Amino acid sequence: MSVRIAKNSGFCFGVKRAIKIALKTSKNNHEIVTLGSIIHNPQMVAKLESENILKVDNIEQIKGRPTIIRSHGIKKEILEELEKNNIEIINATCPYVSKTQDYAKSLSEDGYELIILGDRDHPEVKALRSYVDKEVIIVANADELVDKQFKKVGIISQTTRRVEDLQDLVKKLVPRCHEMRVINTICNATTIRQNSTLALARESDIMIVVGGKNSSNTKMLARICESFVKTYHIETACEIDRKWFKDKQDIGLTAGASTPDWIIVEVYNEILECIGNINKVDKIEDIPGFKEE
Ligand code: SF4
Repeated sequence: MSVRIAKNSGFCFGVKRAIKIALKTSKNNHEIVTLGSIIHNPQMVAKLESENILKVDNIEQIKGRPTIIRSHGIKKEILEELEKNNIEIINATCPYVSKTQDYAKSLSEDGYELIILGDRDHPEVKALRSYVDKEVIIVANADELVDKQFKKVGIISQTTRRVEDLQDLVKKLVPRCHEMRVINTICNATTIRQNSTLALARESDIMIVVGGKNSSNTKMLARICESFVKTYHIETACEIDRKWFKDKQDIGLTAGASTPDWIIVEVYNEILECIGNINKVDKIEDIPGFKEE
């Protein structure tokens, strides 16, 4: 029996950066807050609370404390309101997300009807949409647009979507528009994680995907795995059931960009426990990796 982890599993650049900024800020302040979850991982959010980095859900709850803007950004109106209220803002928005907001704005200002490929209820997409004053079309896939015709259309994507979905959207719209400008705003960290996970899922009998149930990129990894093999999306090791591994030889493990290493290690060790392997590890680097061809 083998248990292998997909390359690049766990924290991405933007998440590491946001947490580093929050921890650094908390050192010089009694208490700081994040407006919404700083990253989409409930266990990490709870851990940060022990460092006096508290999550609040609205401006009224801030009560004058320095406020960290989460990695996937906040709506423009909320940012303006924070400024108006003289709240100290520490912006931990991932630079790739900020860049996508700039693209949305400039495409719209240049007269393109904007289409965002993404989940309209996701905070990143809500924030992105707020940077455009005109109407915006948000779709989860190309089929939602049915036969709509366009004159001049600009297309961008939520940073965590699949490249294939963006390609499909473009392909289906080309015959229906006069002019199209596409900016691939899918973040590289997302694409790399999806490709490594896909490679491992193809060679596994079961996949365990670790990460927040509210994490868009983790859900996407689970979706990719599900099309090949039986897949379980879990947040922590407690959810594992040893029955899952009965008659399985090759067990694959992957984790979203907002999943901390310590949770991945706990999950790996719990899987070993279930299959009767005693070679537990202390750090993620010691988990056998899947070598891609
Ligand atoms: S997934 Fe990409 S865009 Fe999102 S925080 Fe990580 S690096 Fe930034």
